[in-house]
Amino acid sequence: MSEFDTNELVRRDLSHVWHPFTQAEEYEAESPHPLVVVEGDGNYLIDSDGNRYLDGISSLWVNVHGHREPRIDAAIRSQLDQVAHTTMLGATHPTAVDLASKLAAITPEGLTRVFYSDSGSTAVEVALKMAYQYWLEREGSGTKRTGFLSFSGAYHGDTIGSVSVGGIDTFHEKFNRLLFPVIHSPSGYCYRCELGLEKSSCDMACASEFERLLDEHQNELAAVIIEPLAQGASGIITWPEGFLKRVRQATSSKGILLIADEVATGFGRTGTMFACEQEDVIPDLLCMAKGITGGYLPLAATVATEQIFDAFRGPYTELKTFFHGHSYTGNPLACSAALANLRIFEEDETIAAIQPKIDLLAECLESVADLKQVGEIRQRGLMIGIELVENKEEKKAYPADLRVGRAVTLAARKSGVIIRPLGDVVVLMPPLSITPDQIRLLVRTTREAIIGITEKATQDV
Ligand SMILES: *Cc1c(COP(=O)(O)O)cnc(C)c1O
Repeated sequence: MSEFDTNELVRRDLSHVWHPFTQAEEYEAESPHPLVVVEGDGNYLIDSDGNRYLDGISSLWVNVHGHREPRIDAAIRSQLDQVAHTTMLGATHPTAVDLASKLAAITPEGLTRVFYSDSGSTAVEVALKMAYQYWLEREGSGTKRTGFLSFSGAYHGDTIGSVSVGGIDTFHEKFNRLLFPVIHSPSGYCYRCELGLEKSSCDMACASEFERLLDEHQNELAAVIIEPLAQGASGIITWPEGFLKRVRQATSSKGILLIADEVATGFGRTGTMFACEQEDVIPDLLCMAKGITGGYLPLAATVATEQIFDAFRGPYTELKTFFHGHSYTGNPLACSAALANLRIFEEDETIAAIQPKIDLLAECLESVADLKQVGEIRQRGLMIGIELVENKEEKKAYPADLRVGRAVTLAARKSGVIIRPLGDVVVLMPPLSITPDQIRLLVRTTREAIIGITEKATQDV
């Protein structure tokens, strides 16, 4: 017998908890009941009835070395014996200092100033405000460099600033009238190209269009923001190779700041510590969150160049101070988890160890790509999107009300694997610590769930 009374927990959850990104009517109707996770064990999660599940989405893209990693557990316990929280407003503490030095060392050269916050959304919000104020301090209140350019399909978080630079209609459209205007450039969604072109012959027209927009708006832009190598939340939309580099070249030549949102891609997710490294790109501001604490505690950082930091210096009365900061900024427990996370990367040579896993995943996924209802598989490192379609030849999407992606993930859960969809894109995002056997299990279970559900969906249509 489990020590948890699942029915009672679910009853009170349904009475009082409002779940994020969750339609209550679907959640309430889950049979036999919604998932209640009570324990973690390496790459597995255990529910209140004692069932074990492979964590195929790293507990929403945050976990890195597995759950209850002894070295991270110990680091947090040891910090707890010092102090749980103390403020960074005009003061400091050793773990925040150690972590900032470490982050400056592992981020691309020139990124030296670490500003802490507590989620990916706030890391982006901070970067946007820094970029905006940077130009005010440099050029005075008459500066025209107040705008931003982002990409269709972008996801940068849920606060109003980060939603303004977002580009996912399902999430963002309702809030349109609350948002500041942003220039949108086409995404690299080659499977359904916004410009109506084919990858084999387009000569990366989306990059040319970006350069044209930058030309047109160069005097009014503070910064460009991009998810490097892959847009996550719009369905793992992988950018064409070389796109990021062209964005950096064009922004540099026009003196426009580049913000790299590495909230999803950072900490080894794409095969290198940061995605920018793969195209030798150094952004002016780099946002990180999700994987920073190994998936343990909320923490984020916006890392800036010294040039940006310097624009905010001056006598207090000039009011160049960056007037932004959250109560739990630089929380010591979270910083200690992040330091332990980074130590494990060194001790276990995590980056070197993931390349064979990336290759094995790609190999296993070939058996999924062949399925009749799989339109495209997109992979960047350990980020995978499997786009399901009703008709492969015509790339015809399923009717939204069939909720096919969701049905696949619920079926996978019944077979002991936790995954989540983005619409009809099934996402696999395993911890970096996933083993070869677990990779095979993850893909096999996903494949069987896709077959089971899409065969049923075809009969239902
Ligand atoms: C998840 C995500 C965010 C938002 O992070 P939160 O911690 O959920 O606020 C921002 N940008 C990207 C690219 C993300 O994937």
